[in-house]
Amino acid sequence: MSATKPSQAPSGATSAATWDDTADIVVLGTGAAGLTAALTAAALGASVRLFEKSAYVGGTTAVSGGVAWVPAHERSPGVSLTVDDALAYLRAQSFGAMDEAGVETFVRTAPRMLDFVEAHSDVRFEVAHGFPDYKPELPGGKTEGGRSLGPAPYDLGRLGPWAERITRFPADFSNVGFDAETRARLHASVDIFGEICVAGTALVAGLLKGLLDHGVVPQTKHRAVELVAGPDGVTGAVVSGDAGLFRVQAKKGVVIATGGFEWDPVLVGDFLRGPMRGPVSPPNNTGDGLRMAMRLGAALGNMGEAWWVPVIQIPGDTIDGQPRSRSVRLERTRPRCIMVNRAGRRFVNEACDYNSMAGAFHYLDPRNGYANDPAWMVFDAEHLRRYGFLSVEPGGQPPNWFGKGRTIEELAALVGIEPKQLAETIAEWNANVERDVDPAFGRGSSAYDGFWGDPAASTPARRTLGEIDTGPYYAVPLTVGAMGTKGGPKTDGDGRVLHVSGAPIPGLYAAGNAMAGFTGKAYGGAGGTIGPAMTVGFRAGHRAATGTSFS
Ligand SMILES: Cc1cc2nc3c(=O)[nH]c(=O)nc-3n(C[C@H](O)[C@H](O)[C@H](O)COP(=O)(O)OP(=O)(O)OC[C@H]3O[C@@H](n4cnc5c(N)ncnc54)[C@H](O)[C@@H]3O)c2cc1C
Repeated sequence: MSATKPSQAPSGATSAATWDDTADIVVLGTGAAGLTAALTAAALGASVRLFEKSAYVGGTTAVSGGVAWVPAHERSPGVSLTVDDALAYLRAQSFGAMDEAGVETFVRTAPRMLDFVEAHSDVRFEVAHGFPDYKPELPGGKTEGGRSLGPAPYDLGRLGPWAERITRFPADFSNVGFDAETRARLHASVDIFGEICVAGTALVAGLLKGLLDHGVVPQTKHRAVELVAGPDGVTGAVVSGDAGLFRVQAKKGVVIATGGFEWDPVLVGDFLRGPMRGPVSPPNNTGDGLRMAMRLGAALGNMGEAWWVPVIQIPGDTIDGQPRSRSVRLERTRPRCIMVNRAGRRFVNEACDYNSMAGAFHYLDPRNGYANDPAWMVFDAEHLRRYGFLSVEPGGQPPNWFGKGRTIEELAALVGIEPKQLAETIAEWNANVERDVDPAFGRGSSAYDGFWGDPAASTPARRTLGEIDTGPYYAVPLTVGAMGTKGGPKTDGDGRVLHVSGAPIPGLYAAGNAMAGFTGKAYGGAGGTIGPAMTVGFRAGHRAATGTSFS
């Protein structure tokens, strides 16, 4: 391959012959990245074909909070959100591993992406006032929030029959997708009539309406299986649908937006930096885009990383025939609940952001292996009475798969935690909590820690700190999972996929979890995945449609 373009059809790619369909741009995947790329290209006058493997539109994005983290903008009155602060903040948590140029391009472009999306679709962004960054005390961090923007509630009635075609999880449990409690709270704040949706559904619905208005109709149950490439780069894709394989020409480019590889155990085992016991995304992200790009010689980056999250797995629970994992957020933040390992010791600030917890779960003890995985959430009867837990309403009866003991020691012996140490850990915890402190891990000391805690607490720390002193006591196992992976083909700031030689592969773009995330290990705040995904999708759509870089 030459420095500027592939000199021959890369091995494994199909070369051009006859086409079954032709467009300027072909987009693969209908999450935030793909929908934004397709919308941008269509709004700029390109003809677009949009393919989705699942029967539904929206991917992980549709079951998410739909929040986008845009670190430098002017939509938060009274909060100064500068580019310099944003870069300092991301740098402070990236441990030298972020793509500086890519991150800067994201930070500078993201607010203009918001303007563009609002101008060409039904999405309207609202600042999630007061939502702190995930590590707000780092340099450049914002304890007062302002960087996270959620989609305004949306009337699904505007989508006609497409309203039924958006990905959703069955609403059978508190922590399903974007959990029901948070959705209910958002719904409660909606003072309008109609078939109102919120969160990720609203983001996908608004983007989808914009696409349909521009004449782009997603083709669901169409899985991209191969890229077509020749001497001038990528010229199309092979897609598998109900009618079999067909070949679609992309005169100006193909955008891979097929999500991560979290549902492919081989890729997970080969690449992730530590155990990933269960994805919480819909089970369609199997690294298809990654494999297609690898066949063309794409350079890969950030392959060890994921958007990590602690998960619980209910015995026998499945989704689409696959073992199901559910993310845990509210339960580990609220008072009177801690996490311990099998030695009976705490190992992390339970209320910190989910992504940062992976390091603690991945700790590899020289003698004891993964000493903190699996772990247990241990809580008392008063926690259950006040807050409920997972599917259990406040004051409700716990299911029989919760470990239960009249005393701490009885509970520990039942589930396999070291009893004496667990009793000591809880005694120490209670003594510290009485003083509103957690000397070991600083729980309650960050503005973020209490955000999902008890709003009725008497002090900020008490939103998340509370004695564990009222039997019976409970233990629920948890482990580490992911919302998605964030490694893949490396790109430039316009989402152009780079060949291992360093040159862009002509005609090939990637965005969202399908690409090597610019932010490395970092997760800036709520929306830290969708903000970059939409921004790169926007830049890729612009570049492919116009042939010029957005500036
Ligand atoms: C419960 C939950 C809450 C979350 N909340 C937030 C939040 O508020 N903010 C935030 O930033 N992040 C959040 N996340 C993470 C976020 O949802 C994802 O990181 C993000 O949506 C990924 O976007 P994407 O477009 O890259 O991929 P996806 O949204 O996963 O879309 C990829 C699409 O590609 C399709 N696809 C796969 N293979 C093929 C193929 N071969 N051909 C065609 N199509 C294919 C898939 O079916 C899917 O529809 C949350 C995640 C979860 C699970």
